[in-house]
Order: sequence, then C-alpha cells, then structure tokens
Amino acid sequence: MTLLASLADIVGQKNVLTGEELAPYLTDWRNMATGKAQCAVRPGSTAEVSGVVKVCAAAGVPVVTQSGNTSLVGGATPDDKGNAVILLMSRLNKIRALDADNATITVDAGMILQNLQAAARDAGFLFPLSLAAEGSCMIGGNLATNAGGTQVLRYGNMRDLTLGLEVVCADGEIWDGLRGLRKDNTGYDLRDLFIGSEGTLGIITAATLKLFPQPAAKCTAMLALSSVENAVAVLRRARKAFDTALTGYELMAGVCLDMVHQCFPQQKIPFADKPAWYALLEISDAEGEEHARAMFEAMLGESFEAGEIDDAVIAENLTQSKDLWHLRESITLAQAQAVKSIKHDISVPVSNMVSFIEKTDAELQEKFPGLLNMTFGHLGDGNLHYNVGSSERFSGDDLMKNYDAIYNLVHDNAHAHQGSISAEHGIGAFKIDELPRYKQARELDLMKRIKAAFDPLNILNPGKVLR
Ligand SMILES: Cc1cc2nc3c(=O)[nH]c(=O)nc-3n(C[C@H](O)[C@H](O)[C@H](O)COP(=O)(O)OP(=O)(O)OC[C@H]3O[C@@H](n4cnc5c(N)ncnc54)[C@H](O)[C@@H]3O)c2cc1C
Repeated sequence: MTLLASLADIVGQKNVLTGEELAPYLTDWRNMATGKAQCAVRPGSTAEVSGVVKVCAAAGVPVVTQSGNTSLVGGATPDDKGNAVILLMSRLNKIRALDADNATITVDAGMILQNLQAAARDAGFLFPLSLAAEGSCMIGGNLATNAGGTQVLRYGNMRDLTLGLEVVCADGEIWDGLRGLRKDNTGYDLRDLFIGSEGTLGIITAATLKLFPQPAAKCTAMLALSSVENAVAVLRRARKAFDTALTGYELMAGVCLDMVHQCFPQQKIPFADKPAWYALLEISDAEGEEHARAMFEAMLGESFEAGEIDDAVIAENLTQSKDLWHLRESITLAQAQAVKSIKHDISVPVSNMVSFIEKTDAELQEKFPGLLNMTFGHLGDGNLHYNVGSSERFSGDDLMKNYDAIYNLVHDNAHAHQGSISAEHGIGAFKIDELPRYKQARELDLMKRIKAAFDPLNILNPGKVLR
C-alpha cells in the first residue's frame, strides 16, 4: 500500500489533501517561507494522529505539524525536499472538560484561541492568553511556541498557563499527561519540555489549562511619550501603584501608528500632535469600576507631574478600550502591507532597554542610512518586536541584500544587553542558524541529546530549532 493510501485508511480520503487543496499549507503567514510536501492530512482524533505518526515513522517520512499557520519564524512550513506530511490540527477543536472548582479547562489542541477565550468567558472565567493572531492561531500552536502576547505581565506566558498535556510521541505512542495539578514534583517535567518545542519533540493533541476570575473592571489608556526612558519610568511607577492589577504595558514607536492609520484610515490616532512614542497601559481590578478608575487617574496624575507623560487618553468605555487595542494589534498587519521588513523578537531586562534601543538605532542608521526603525512590543515583559523596514531612502532590495548583517547587528546587541534573540516567536527555520551564535555550546549539546532521545529518526519537523 502507498503512504497516501495508508493515510487515507486512517483519516478518510477526503482528509488527505494534495494538489490545489495542499497549496495553502505550503506557505507561511508572511509569504516568506515556501516548501513542498507529499500531502496534508486532517486527523479527527488523537487516535488518528497516533495512526498517522506511526505510518510516517515506519516510512521514515517527516511530519510537520501545522495549526493556525501564523508562525513568524517559518516554523509550520515544510522544507523544499517534498517528502513531508503536513499534519493539520483543525479538526481537533472540542472542549473536553471544564472543571469550575479546579479552575481548569481541557481542550483539544486544534481549538482556535479566540474560541477558547469565548468558552471561558461564557462559563464566567477568563483565559488570559491574548495576541493579535488569536482569531486563527490554535492552542497547540500557542503551546508549541510558548506564546506570550499582551497579558504576560500579569498571567505569564503559555507555559505558566498550562497544567497538563496529551502528546503523540515520535513513534506514534500517546503520552497522557492531562493532569490538572498545580503541584506535582514526580520527576522530570515532560510537559515543560514539550511546551516551546515547536513540533520537534512531539505532537500536542490536548491540554489542561488554568482559568482565572473575570476582572470586575478594566482601565485602558494610550499615553504620548517623548522617550523610551520616560516609558520605562511610567512602567516603574505603574508596577508600584498597581502590582498584580497591571495587566498590559505596550510600547509603540510613533511611526508604527502612523503606518496603521495610513493602511487603515478608519483607525484614528487619538492625539493631535505626533509623539515619538506611545504606550498602552491597562489594569484589571477585582473591586470595581470606581476603585480602578481612582487608582488609574492617581497614578497617571503623578506621572504627568513628574514629566514622564506628554499626553494621555483614557478609554471611557469598552468600545474605546477596544479601539485603542485595535491600533496596537494592527501594527503587524500594517507593517506587512506597507513595507518590506525584517522582524526581530528580542528581549532584554527592562533596565537595559533604553541602552539597547539607543545603541541599536544609532548603529543601524550609521550603517544603513534611511532604514526605517519601527519598534513596538511588550515593554512590560522586556520584549520588543524591534522591526526594521524599507523606506524611500532605503529600498526593499537594499533591505534584503543586507538581511544577515542587520539581523546579526540587532541580535548581537540584544545578546550584549543580556537578552534573547527570540522572546516569544520561537526559532523555527528563520533563526536556526542564529541559535548557535548565542546559545552556550553546553546548552546546545543538551538540547540535541533531548531531541535524539525523543525523536531518534528525526522525523518531527526537521530543519526547525536545531540542525
Ligand atoms: C499578527 C500576528 C501577531 C502575533 N502576535 C504574537 C504575540 O503577541 N505573541 C506571540 O507569542 N506570538 C505572536 N505571534 C506569533 C504566532 O501567532 C504565535 O506563535 C502562535 O502561538 C502560533 O500558533 P499557530 O496555531 O498559528 O501555530 P503554527 O504557526 O501553525 O505553528 C507554530 C509552530 O508550532 C508547531 N505546532 C503547531 N501546532 C502544534 C501541535 N499541536 N503540536 C506540536 N507542535 C505544533 C508548528 O510545527 C510550528 O513549529 C503573532 C503572529 C501574527 C501573525
């Protein structure tokens, strides 16, 4: 029997996609990575995922797991050899259980993040992971990349939100680790190894996740700032004033919101003057509207008096708050439409942020005059999408010609500032050659040994994370 016939036996003929049906799964979200594959399969259960992996393992065929395909590092795209099978997770999309007393929800890994957020809300809870791709990214993809997003400051990233996993291993056997325990010190933590492993150690088919109470009130403000130094000062003050009520603190270079307005003119910037930087500040309060608003206004008042903020707009209602967040969340799409860009997803300790930005901006402008600096990101977590783009003075061709030099310069500076070259997007294919430049040899060696132990045939997402 051919491989495709064996796969059709497991998932059904209509769930084996080839030819035109396969094409959308061969390219990444930004059209920056394109690969080839024998087919894509859509299993409908964990048992079917297991069956597919067993067949592929027996044939020595690579399995590339793809969920929402919103990876920004080419992580879910097959290479160009053409022998891979793409495993699509979209049919595994059910809630398995919601345990109100334990404050947990167990879901299939193909559930879209936004649908999980809605299901939690309907049950009176909050599932706090939130990111601009939430309408299409899936829980398995969020787990495999240890996704972060806009509320890490308060709730942590996907690893912090996860208690248990179900995983199909490289030999097709199923590991049932769907535990809802907040304490479990029974040896090595396999769960935390699979989280963030980008489809290279196993296929996550379900997860037990933490739920939180819905906050009684939220306050959101957009701030106009003259410098990153002031943005850091506001963060320091907000941390002190709000403690765990501080749920979001996002930084955006002025050019980013100009680009959003240019691409989506219906989205208005709420200030007449154009500041150099904007920050989006949000708190969530357990007591209620009045309490939240009083805390918020007191802190912002102090910040004004200290000269940290030039101007501020406080959202008066949920719609206005959503509009402010919509501006922030449209930046990635606007950059993709307006310019050619190189994305960097760096993190440095917040205390090193001013120095990192000043030094990197200056060095880039000196070496590549006219290059557009369009930095934004989760300043509260020390994580910036330090993106650079083409401009009238620095063409898309110039940008691509200097791709490696720019990439290395930014990453070298992040590293020199005690930072990381991938804060939340992962390594995927795009950063595979960058990783050895910055990881300690010992760390890389241990990672390679883990990979060999979990996937001795190297069939799970080869060419990603490690060579
Ligand atoms: C507009 C936009 C905004 C974004 N904002 C953020 C952000 O704020 N924070 C952030 O962290 N990321 C962000 N991202 C990156 C991306 O959305 C996230 O990394 C997301 O978690 C990926 O989920 P996905 O379902 O699309 O996964 P995919 O892109 O399909 O896959 C990502 C990786 O996970 C592997 N994988 C997928 N599913 C599984 C599974 N079930 N088991 C094992 N491996 C699997 C794939 O092989 C691949 O290596 C953004 C992306 C876009 C396009």
